[in-house]
Amino acid sequence: MDFSTFCIHGNNEKHDRTGAVSVPIFQTATFAHPGVEQSTGYDYSRLQNPTREHLEKTVAKLEDGTDAMAFSSGMSAIATLMELFSPGDHIIASDDLYGGSHRLFRSISEKNGINFSFVNTSHISQIESHINPQTKAVFIETPTNPMMQVTDISAVSKLTKRHGVLLIVDNTFLTPYYQKPLQLGADIVTHSGTKFLGGHNDTLAGFLVVSDNDLSEKLRFIYKTTGACLSPLDSWLLIRGIKTLAVRMDKQQQNALQIARWLLSQEKVKAVHYVGLPTHPDHKISKKQATGFGAMISFATDSEETARQVLERVTLIQYAESLGGVESLITYPILQTHADVPKAVLEAKGINEKLLRLSVGLESAEDLICDLKQALEGQH
Ligand SMILES: *Cc1c(COP(=O)(O)O)cnc(C)c1O
Repeated sequence: MDFSTFCIHGNNEKHDRTGAVSVPIFQTATFAHPGVEQSTGYDYSRLQNPTREHLEKTVAKLEDGTDAMAFSSGMSAIATLMELFSPGDHIIASDDLYGGSHRLFRSISEKNGINFSFVNTSHISQIESHINPQTKAVFIETPTNPMMQVTDISAVSKLTKRHGVLLIVDNTFLTPYYQKPLQLGADIVTHSGTKFLGGHNDTLAGFLVVSDNDLSEKLRFIYKTTGACLSPLDSWLLIRGIKTLAVRMDKQQQNALQIARWLLSQEKVKAVHYVGLPTHPDHKISKKQATGFGAMISFATDSEETARQVLERVTLIQYAESLGGVESLITYPILQTHADVPKAVLEAKGINEKLLRLSVGLESAEDLICDLKQALEGQH
C-alpha cells in the first residue's frame, strides 16, 4: 500500500460494529474484565487504549518500525527515552539540537548522572573521536534546528553498529513521508507529533518508534510505568492530522522552496538556510537519504533591527514558537527555542540576533511572500 493511502486508512482495524468511518474516541480510563483472569485485550488506558493503539500502529508502519509509543508531547517521549540509560552512561548528541532537548540533557539527564558530548554530527570523525567505553547512544537531529545541517544517517549507523551503540534520530522536521531513519540503520526514532504529524498547531504529542523487539519491550515497560501517554482525544486528533500528511508536506515544501528563492534575492537578507536550495552545503547528502527537504527555513537578516522589525510587522505569518502546522509561523531562536543554550555555543553556530526561523504553512506562497516583503521593507 502506498504511503499516502496508509496515512488515511492506517492499520484499518475496525473497533466497532457501527461501521464508523472515523476511528472512535475511546474516552475511558479503564476496561471491564469479562471474567476472572480474562481481558478484552485492554485493561487500563495507560497500558493501552484502542484509539491510541490505532495511532501507534499507523505511526509504526509509516516509519517502517514494529512498535510506536504515543506520548503527551515530544519532550515526554525524549524524557522517557532517557530512562533507558543509567548513571555513568555517555551519550553523544548534535550540538545544534532543538532547545528543549538540549535543556533536558543539560539540566536533568546530567544531574541524573548521564554524561553528554555535544559535537557537530555532520562530521562523522567528530562522533567517532568522542566514543568511549561508556558511550551508549548517539542522538541526532537531521536537518538540525535551526541551522539546517544534515547528518548522513547510514554513515553514522555503520559507526554506531560497529561500537554497539544505539543511534537515535529525531525525525520531526522531515517526517517519515520524506525520511525513514530506521531503514537507514537508526535504532530509535523520536518525534514531536505536535509539528508536521499533527499538522494543525492544535495538539501536543510525541512518539518513540523502534523496529527491535528487545528495545520495544524495554521502552514499553518504561512507558507503562512512567505514564506520559497520549490521551484518547489527542490520539484521535493525531490520526486525523496524519490523514493529510502527504499532501500537506508536498504543498508546504513547494511553498518553502518558492519563499527560499525569493528570500535569496532580498537586499536585507544575508543568508538563507534551506536544504532544498541546490546551494545548501548538505543538499546532496539530503538527496541521498531523504525524498524531500521539508518546509523549514532559517535566514539571516542584515541587522538585529531588521529581524525585530520582521517579527513585529508580519501580519499573516504569526510570531510564535512551534512549526509544521498549516499556519505559517516565524520564531526568533535566540529569544525563544534556544534561549537556554549558552551564548558561546549559539554564536559559534551562527544563531544570533539576526537569525529568524520560518515554518512555512499551507497558505498561498504569494500571500506569504507579500507579507514578508512588507515586513522586511517596512512599508505600512
Ligand atoms: C518541538 C520539538 C521537540 C519537542 O516536542 P514537543 O511536542 O514540543 O514537546 C523535539 N524535537 C524537535 C525537533 C522539535 O521541533
